Amino acid sequence: MRYFIEAVKGLGITSRHFFVNMYYHTLRFFHLSSKKGETVTIQYPEERRETFPRVRLRHRLLEREDGRLRCVACYMCATACPAECIYIEAEEDPDHPLEKRPKQFIIDLGKCAYCGFCVEACPEDALRMDVHIPELSEYNKDDLIYDIEKLTKW
Ligand code: SF4
Ligand code: SF4
Repeated sequence: MRYFIEAVKGLGITSRHFFVNMYYHTLRFFHLSSKKGETVTIQYPEERRETFPRVRLRHRLLEREDGRLRCVACYMCATACPAECIYIEAEEDPDHPLEKRPKQFIIDLGKCAYCGFCVEACPEDALRMDVHIPELSEYNKDDLIYDIEKLTKW
């Protein structure tokens, strides 16, 4: 009997939330909603949530004026990354023998914590993060692995 009463109580709470939320959603649908007591469900993709101005998301590798990457494959960003999601393979730059460049530069945005440490650590200002691209969702997590081609594409 005790379990039955608890089950009925649980059902009552669930039903109350359902009908209250449905009421506010209906008000919203007819543009009659007030902020008070309103549910926080965002009707994505019709509604887009505003991001905070300080949010930094998608990474970018910057290029110099002559088209070469600014990155000198120093590994500072990879060392600073707490999520260990940056993979760099360095090579010598054949046109500038004293310089290195990344043969491979990969960031796995599926593992990234978006902390920005990599950007702060870069001594060449070669890496930046976008402010205004809040959508980074993919159906396949491998699509969140960004290589040089994706990181330089605007
Ligand atoms: S934002 Fe943070 S977690 Fe993401 S790649 Fe940079 S250092 Fe790593
Ligand atoms: S810290 Fe900057 S220059 Fe060094 S490897 Fe990372 S992106 Fe390249």
